[in-house]
Amino acid sequence: QTAPAFLSVWDMHSYYGESYIVQGISFNVHEGEILALLGRNGAGKTTTLRSIARLGNPQVLKGEIWLDHQPLHRMSSHEAAQAGLGLVPEDRRIIPGLSVEENLQLAQIQPPVGWSIERLYELFPRLGERRRQEGVTLSGGEQQMLSIARALARDIKVLLLDEPYEGLAPVIVDEIEKTLTHIKSQGMTTILVEQNAVRALKLADRAIILDTGSIVYDGSASEVLENADLRAEYLAI
Ligand code: ATP
Repeated sequence: QTAPAFLSVWDMHSYYGESYIVQGISFNVHEGEILALLGRNGAGKTTTLRSIARLGNPQVLKGEIWLDHQPLHRMSSHEAAQAGLGLVPEDRRIIPGLSVEENLQLAQIQPPVGWSIERLYELFPRLGERRRQEGVTLSGGEQQMLSIARALARDIKVLLLDEPYEGLAPVIVDEIEKTLTHIKSQGMTTILVEQNAVRALKLADRAIILDTGSIVYDGSASEVLENADLRAEYLAI
């Protein structure tokens, strides 16, 4: 018997108004794994993340979403966040007027469990060095780090990353990858949406490929790297 999945999406259907985007997808994520969620532009990756995070737009009209035995599909986005869901959106949402440290303090649950601010600075030394700097003045890569650190400060159970490497220099991407590997070693479960599919596949344990709102592949990440037909057909790489 296999262990129950940590995060489980079952027959999820999502709409933006009349537009039917996520067309009945089911998948599991196991505790401590990195899942790459891939597909061409417009395949529905961001919509899938937003649906799991219960953002309201898109509307999820059918389906179940379970996180560690908790029914996210019955929750608001705020409740889902409290239940341990950590969405890091593409635009990072650093709060203007607040320093790096204030951005982290605002996110941190009290009393802090797991990731204290000091531990987050060990994980991201650049943030420690810039703790008094206003968050919005950080470089793109540093803002991405702050956005991930802020999610960890909330003591989340699963990290959902929407295109974290976008616009970043390769050395910064290396740094973020190292961090993701480290937090995985501490037991974190991660869903990684990335346009840079090769990078994501090298880091991930498993991969799901979406095509027009349906899952066309669910399996090991290394198999996608080895399967040129699959890559050409759905990822254009
Ligand atoms: P990308 O890599 O380009 O971000 P994606 O796979 O993340 O692509 P989504 O952003 O989920 O794709 O978009 C899926 C579809 O939903 C697209 O056809 C898009 O135009 C549509 N869509 C996205 N946001 C909205 C919205 N707010 N209102 C209406 N349609 C939307």
